[in-house]
Amino acid sequence: MSNSNDEIRRVLDNVERFLTQEQDLYGNTLYVGERREETHSPTTIVNPKSSQQSPEELDLFGKPAASSIPLVKSSHHAERPYPNEPWVPAQSLDDLNSRICECLKCPLGKTRTNFVFGVGNPHADVVVIGEAPGADEDAQGEPFVGRAGQLLNKILEAIHFKREEVYICNILKCRPPNNRDPLPEEIELCEPYLWKQLEIIKPKMILCLGRIAGQALLKTNDSLSALRGKFFDYRGIKLMVTYHPAALLRNPNWKKPAWEDVQLFRKTYDELMSPS
Ligand code: URA
Repeated sequence: MSNSNDEIRRVLDNVERFLTQEQDLYGNTLYVGERREETHSPTTIVNPKSSQQSPEELDLFGKPAASSIPLVKSSHHAERPYPNEPWVPAQSLDDLNSRICECLKCPLGKTRTNFVFGVGNPHADVVVIGEAPGADEDAQGEPFVGRAGQLLNKILEAIHFKREEVYICNILKCRPPNNRDPLPEEIELCEPYLWKQLEIIKPKMILCLGRIAGQALLKTNDSLSALRGKFFDYRGIKLMVTYHPAALLRNPNWKKPAWEDVQLFRKTYDELMSPS
């Protein structure tokens, strides 16, 4: 009897593991049989830049977007304006944090222990963006300090970035209960804070961790498999989506493709930063 119970438990564990992996890649839609093909081509598409730059080719800060690196033009979305709220004129990250850290715009404000604004170099060339604080981050008020954070530190070190050299933050500043996925309305309310952080920091590149952060920023439902490993133009900033470190902890088989992603990220960073 106990043998057959063990067997059932083992099968259920495997099913659970499989479904979690599918969710990391594809979200809550379960594809049976042949997998839906992704809408993006697997190769990068050169963003054609004419000598005349149209307004949409100006970056977040009104400067012409750099054009030498192949980019997938993200299909996004008319850019939403800032809401009419008192934090919008903030001039520095500290100023912004102090204006928004008591936010109660969505119900997560009531359940958080700490508002998790972000951490790192306020002049960083690279911003790393995750999904939302987990339990450790909620307790400490700093993004990526738990197990996933330890792995993120190692990934950054492996491509020769120190944690303090980059800036690290999340799409949501407050922890969703039981680490559930952020809701669209939570993203909609919280994302303008991230735009403002990016406007102040003015990074050259963004490393986006996981399907949820990638989908939120690029306003797409594409799977992680479709989004990863290439560059998107996000408001004039080069953005790459790769695996979330928590997903890598669950599925070490993804470490190799993640390594390829971050090596490409570093190479592109070096090219961008080297004087031409
Ligand atoms: N996962 C995230 O997406 N962000 C964190 O800050 C921690 C874990």
